[in-house]
This record gives sequence, C-alpha cells and structure tokens, in this order.
Amino acid sequence: MSERPRIAFIGLGQMGAPMAVNLSKGGFDVHAFDLSTAAIDKVRAQGLVVAASAQAATEGAQIVISMLPASRHVEALYLGDEGLLSRLAAGTLIIDCSTIAPASAQRVAQAAAERGLAMIDAPVSGGTAGASAGTLTFIVGGEGGTLERARPVLQAMGKNVFHMGAAGAGQVAKLCNNMALGVIMAVTGEAIALGVAHGLDAKVLSQMMAVSTGRSWATEVCNPWPDVLENAPASRGYSGGFGSDLMLKDLGLAVEAAMGVGATIPLGELARNLYAMNGRAGRGGLDFSSVVKLFSREP
Ligand code: NAD
Repeated sequence: MSERPRIAFIGLGQMGAPMAVNLSKGGFDVHAFDLSTAAIDKVRAQGLVVAASAQAATEGAQIVISMLPASRHVEALYLGDEGLLSRLAAGTLIIDCSTIAPASAQRVAQAAAERGLAMIDAPVSGGTAGASAGTLTFIVGGEGGTLERARPVLQAMGKNVFHMGAAGAGQVAKLCNNMALGVIMAVTGEAIALGVAHGLDAKVLSQMMAVSTGRSWATEVCNPWPDVLENAPASRGYSGGFGSDLMLKDLGLAVEAAMGVGATIPLGELARNLYAMNGRAGRGGLDFSSVVKLFSREP
C-alpha cells in the first residue's frame, strides 16, 4: 500500500488531464477516471493509474477531485442513490474544480455535509496553459478549515488561492471574473474593427491601447485580431485557448446567478447573446476571441 495521499481524479479533459498529471508529479497517488476512452488513453500514456469507474477510483482515496463540464455532470456524479456521496468514507475531502452554477455547488456541498463529508468549490482561472504549467488560480468557496486541508493539493496544481466565502462563493467569483472577461474581449474586438474600418493598422492600434486606458488582458495577452500577438489564438486560426461555447456557458450562469438575487447585468446579458451568435456562426469550438468576427469580415 502506498503511503502517499490517494486522490481520485474524475474528469480528464483539457483541464483535468494536466491537473491530474501535476498532482502525480507532486507526489500524490492519483487514480483517474473519465467517461471518454480517448481521455483515459491520453493520461495512461502519461503514466497515471486509471480506474474502471468513478467509484473504483475513489476506493481507498482520502481526497476526490472533479473537473467536469457543467452543473448537471457534477450533480450526476455526486448526488442520488448511485452518486459518490452515498459511497464515500466519512472524512473524505471533496474538491470540485468545475465551473458550475453557484446554486448547484451549494446543493452538492449541503448534501456532502449531511453525510459528514467536507467539500469546497474551487473553480479555476488560468486556462489550459495554466493547468499544464501548474500555475492556476483557485477561487474557493467553503469552510476555511476545509480549504486548509485542501491547500497542499491546490498548491500542487496552482499558484494562487483566493477564499471568497461559504459554499458556492468560489463559483460566484469565477462568474464575475469571466463576465468581465467576456464583455472586455467583445468590446476590444469591436474597437479594433472600428479602427481597421477607418484604415488604422490593427497592430499599432493595439500597441497604443495596451499602454493606454483601454488596456486589458484582451489587448496585451489574447488580442482578438490575427497577427497582432504571435502567441494569441487569433494568430493560429483561433484554435486552442478558451472555447467560445465555454464562455457562453459561463455568461449563461452569470445571467442565472443575477436573476437569483435581482442583480442587473445588462452588459453580461448582451455579451451572452454575442457569444451565442458566435456559436451559431460555427465558431463555438474556437477560442472566444473569435467573437471579433461578428464585427468585421477582415480577421
Ligand atoms: P472538457 O470538456 O475538455 O473535459 C471534461 C471531461 O469530463 C471530458 O473528458 C468528459 O468526458 C468528462 N466527463 C463528463 N462527465 C463525466 C463523468 N460523469 N465521469 C467522468 N468523466 C466525465 O472540459 P475542460 O476544458 O477540461 O473544462 C472543465 C471545466 O473547467 C469546465 O467547467 C470549464 O468551464 C472549466 N474551465 C475550463 C477552462 C479552459 O480553458 N478549458 C478554463 C477554466 C475553467
């Protein structure tokens, strides 16, 4: 039997696979599972132990981490008669890193607490590059004591940890960040398209904006116009990066969260529609900076 803390890692997609690999490199005994054979084959090739089911992955594990697409996947994994919560040993620590609805995170955390299981929501920022480099930011909701138990695990996958409040608060904060990001990316694309329509050079315009008051991550790191920044998805046909449909999902969650408390988010709602249009135009699988194509035929 291994002396190393055992972690069951469920969900080995774009984000989950590199996170699980970093945990293994960090000295944890990782037992991984995904519904997709392709995802399983990929991490097996990288030396991870693969389990035959989510339940099998959790046998003997002190910690369970999930990195799944959306609320329904997380609720299906943990809740119900067949869910993991009804099978995990008391004291097991659960860390859900998926980006899901705050209400859904609270539902699962409440059900976990009723079974004597400690849980935090810990959605991440930093994208696939941050997941591979082990530099993710974790945005945490849950009890402080539970976060302290989880901290060494989070530190093996990331650089920054923010405790935002009680269960679900990590998800709320993640949605606030991504709503701002979605709006800023869209308006940056719109601004550059306006300049180009007036004959300006997109690169010089972006360089000016990047040191002026219109500066942002969208001008400096992930510029939406091709060939302005060599390493931005825009300069490789909008491949890789953060999918437009994932941004659409997060903006939908922001709208839902706003309705729950009567908040008004007019720009967030507008941006949700823009990314929906971008998806309908066939760009849902491309990086979200491809939203710029709504404003100009040029890029
Ligand atoms: P992904 O679609 O690449 O991976 C999700 C994986 O979960 C898939 O391999 C799928 O087969 C698996 N899965 C689904 N249901 C399952 C189940 N019941 N049991 C086991 N496996 C199951 O998604 P991703 O890009 O890795 O994103 C995961 C989460 O992280 C999402 O909530 C996303 O919004 C969030 N996120 C993504 C990024 C990014 O840049 N991709 C950045 C920050 C946060």
